[in-house]
Amino acid sequence: MGVWLRAKETAEQVRAEVAAEAERQRANGTIPKIAALVVGNDPASVYYAETKRKVAAKLGIEFELMMQPGDVTQEQLIRIVSEWSRDAAVHGIMLELPLPAHISTSAVAEAIDPLKDVDGVTPANRLAGMTGEPGLVPATPQSCIRLLKAYGYTLEGKNVTLVGRGQTVGLPLFHMLQREQATVTVCHSRTPDLAFHLKHADIVVAAVGKPGIITWEMIRPGTIVIDAGIHELPDGRITGDVDPHAIEVAEAMSPVPGGVGTLTTALLFENAMRAIWLQQQAGREAAR
Ligand code: NAP
Repeated sequence: MGVWLRAKETAEQVRAEVAAEAERQRANGTIPKIAALVVGNDPASVYYAETKRKVAAKLGIEFELMMQPGDVTQEQLIRIVSEWSRDAAVHGIMLELPLPAHISTSAVAEAIDPLKDVDGVTPANRLAGMTGEPGLVPATPQSCIRLLKAYGYTLEGKNVTLVGRGQTVGLPLFHMLQREQATVTVCHSRTPDLAFHLKHADIVVAAVGKPGIITWEMIRPGTIVIDAGIHELPDGRITGDVDPHAIEVAEAMSPVPGGVGTLTTALLFENAMRAIWLQQQAGREAAR
């Protein structure tokens, strides 16, 4: 039986640091503020945004939640995020994804000031995620790596099998894992023998979006498993991509819920604090 890699303690630590930084900013006259945009009435998007609003309140961060109808135009969305980008009182911009099919996500993302892009979706921050240049990197891939490190696991020289190459989790994580000096194998929907690649891994990271797609039989004893998947079952329970029974063969495994997602929310607000710092640094450079 392996060890559950629970994120509660690390997330609490990150939140305490964020609250202290928010307090420090307030004392210096900056009231940290995030603006979030939800388009349509997708229950998951509304739920995530409401959760962030509650966390923000606890951390001393102002949170403006703007809801737009599903038939809003791309131009209207671009106008909203452009205004927030110009507004000095807004320090972070969050765009709940997915957007409706008639809207180009990248066109809206491009209108966000990269220094306020706490989700790391702008082209400048995507590049920063690839190269390691300073920027704002998406929180979920960060969470996968921070969770491993919190339990003392290192990535250098390890064989990591990453399942999923999506824009939100898999693709940015691929670059981050390589920068941590891991040897990364990326599996996706066209990978014919997923089990083969999983058996050769020291560390498995699942970022697919299909409940239980990785069964316990696919996991080699001694493997460390990070499960970034989140699904709500018809009975309301939350589950991940990996069969929870895999804990019986794995050395360690992150639970769902209580793992990657728990830390992700905290890291999103850590990104917001970093965004304020980047904006203040840019302001100082412009004043020189
Ligand atoms: P996505 O864009 O839909 O990407 C899914 C990936 O899974 C794709 O690369 C796809 O391959 C691959 N895939 C699909 N079927 C597969 C199969 N049978 N075998 C192997 N790979 C397969 O998803 P995402 O937005 O990156 O999100 C991935 C998961 O993370 C979701 O469960 C999402 O809910 C979760 N998530 C969690 C958090 C968190 O905080 N924990 C945050 C965001 C997202 P192709 O590229 O070939 O299509």
